Parts: sequence; C-alpha cells; structure tokens
Amino acid sequence: RLESDKINENIPAKETFTDDKVSVDLMVNINLLSELDSAVIMNAAGVGLYRSEFPFLVRNSFPSDAEQTRIYSILFSKMAGKEVTIRTLDIGGDKMVDYLDNGDEANPELGLRSIRFALRHPDIMEQQLMAILMASADADPKVNLRIMFPMISSIDEFRWAKKMVISCCEKLNGGDGIELNDNEQPGNEKADNGKTGSEKPDSGKTGSEKPDNEKADSGKTGNEKPDSEKIKIPKIGMMLELPSVVEIIDDLAKEADFFSIGTNDFVQYMLAADRTNERVAQYYAPHHPGVLRSLKRIADSVTRSGKDISVCGEMAKEKAFIPFFLGIGIRKLSVNKQFLFETQKCISSWNIEDAKQYAQELLAENSVKGVLDLLNSDHIDKA
Ligand code: PEP
Ligand code: MG
Repeated sequence: RLESDKINENIPAKETFTDDKVSVDLMVNINLLSELDSAVIMNAAGVGLYRSEFPFLVRNSFPSDAEQTRIYSILFSKMAGKEVTIRTLDIGGDKMVDYLDNGDEANPELGLRSIRFALRHPDIMEQQLMAILMASADADPKVNLRIMFPMISSIDEFRWAKKMVISCCEKLNGGDGIELNDNEQPGNEKADNGKTGSEKPDSGKTGSEKPDNEKADSGKTGNEKPDSEKIKIPKIGMMLELPSVVEIIDDLAKEADFFSIGTNDFVQYMLAADRTNERVAQYYAPHHPGVLRSLKRIADSVTRSGKDISVCGEMAKEKAFIPFFLGIGIRKLSVNKQFLFETQKCISSWNIEDAKQYAQELLAENSVKGVLDLLNSDHIDKA
C-alpha cells in the first residue's frame, strides 16, 4: 500500500458493491446540519433519513418559516445532486419538544406522537412542507427530494399526508390547494379536545414565538411562489415502523413512491418493548423470528411492486443483519456517518447467494434463542 492510500483508510469508497458486484446504495442518517460536511467527506450516496425534528428539539422556541427554509436550503446545497429523504416531524415519544405542550400521556410511545401529532396540528405540518418545497425549488443544483412520513399505521393516514404535500405544491404554484376537511382526517374524527385541528398546541409561548409573528419575521406569506420554475410534486413515501403495515403492505405499495424501514420503532412496537426502558431491554430483540419474518414479508412485497425500499434503523449497521437484509432483497441502507465505513466493508464481504442462504437460515429458526445462537456462530465473522 502507498502511504497516501493509508490516509484514506477509513473513508468509504464512493460506490458500494457486494463481493459479487451487486450495487448497494449506502446512505447517511442526519440529525443536525453540522453532520453534513463529514457525511459528504465520507462519501454518503445521499441522505436516507433526515430527522427533521432535531432542529426543533435543540431550540427553545418554534423555528420560523424563514429558519425552517434556511435549514432545508443548507441541507440541499451540501447534498447537491444527491437523493435527500426528509422525514417530516417525528415529535413525541422519546423526542419531546419542551416548548410544545403535548399533554400528559401515560404511554407517550403509544400516544400522540409523530405523524399523529402532525395530523392533529396540520398548520405545523403545512408550515414544514412549505419550507421544504420552497427550499427545494430554489436549490441550485437540484437535489432529488423525497418526503417521508413517520409512524404511518394506515393507508388513510398516508393518503391524508400525501394530500397535504400535493396541496402545498398547488398553493406554492399559485393555486388554492386541496380542500382538506378536518372531520375526515384520520385521528381527528374522535378528537374531543375542542381543537379544530388547525391550531398549534398550547405551548406557553411568548409573543415573539407566536406563529403569526413568525410569518411577519420571515417576510414570506408561505404562499408565495419562489422565483424559480414551478414546484413539482416530490416523491412521497413512508417509514415502516408499525406491525399494522405488514398485512397491508401490498396496498401501501400501490400508493407510496418509496419505503424505509425504521427498525428501531418496528422492533419496539412489534414486541411491545419500550426502546428506552432498560427494564425490558431483553424483550427488545431485533433477532426475534416474528421481526425477521415480518421484515422478509415487507421486503418481498415492496420489491415485487418495484418500489424503492431501504432500511434506516440501527439494524442497518449491524454486521449480523446486513447480510440478512441483502439476502431478502434490500439494496439500500442508511446509517449514521460513523458507521458508513464498517457498513460498506461488511456489504463488500458478502455475495448475494451467501446472503440469501444466511437469511434463509435465520428465517428458519422459530425461537429467539435459536436465532441468537446462529448469530453467535461463525457466520458473522466474515466482515
Ligand atoms: C426508526 O424508528 O428505526 C428510525 C429510524 O426512526 P427514529 O429512530 O428516529 O425513531
Ligand atoms: Mg422511528
């Protein structure tokens, strides 16, 4: 090896291939903009998951229209020409925002979190979608923008969320947008909190944090068309994180442009084991046969439909599961930047036939211990 090669030892190659030269898209998960520069240096093929709630979590008041647009503009300029998947706000559960009063819940992980929160507060969702779309319209060079909704449990929620994106595009193109009747909205039919569904939560905000003032601050009404060309509807997809999607995945695949499996939540909800509760950590078992077989069913259905599917939960970086995902047909993984190198190394050590065999062996086990024993055998020492 040349000395100059050594310097780059831990930088992944630009493209990722299995040992038998099958291409795999190795994407990066991003929480904060500060991670972008090193993700670019680390040759991430694009952003597989931008956790858009993080800029909301680190502030002490609600980001204005202008601030939100600025965040997405930076994201797009750093990732110019690449695929960028922005997940809409995933607030609640383990990601509570102090300045939003989301009420007291006995079981926040099963509560008004994620897409449920966004659907209950459509003005917040619309503000975010507008900011994303405006920033992408102005991005030069363009990015391949994809908007992804978290924690979707039903086709109804996805349809509603998708309608909101299309409505925002129409508004930004000078139209009226689609009429969205709150009463038909999933989750709002039974809303008994007296809210119309279009109010922001009571948050004890100060005057300067009020939504009306935000619009004034930004100098934009939120409905103005940017100077550039007409706004196109981006690809719209969803995270697969709840057990309910397994049975309806064929139907979802007819409506969504793409999917990403959020294994962190998928495991939590599949096994009813709070991902943050140490006391039930032993029940939080990604290797549970029920989890693995459900993942296989999802992958089979989505690949049959020809739609794009990736994995963006922590399992995507695990040596034990990378060959499993390759073996069930997954060709796109998204991991935190510090795991890009090792993940690529592991992918490149497997060929697809071996990975299929490996996946079959795991899938054939019917006990949690059986899978674990197999994982502890020599198989995983390959990479
Ligand atoms: C997941 O649930 O796997 C995921 C990627 O989302 P988050 O960890 O942000 O809930
Ligand atoms: Mg999740």
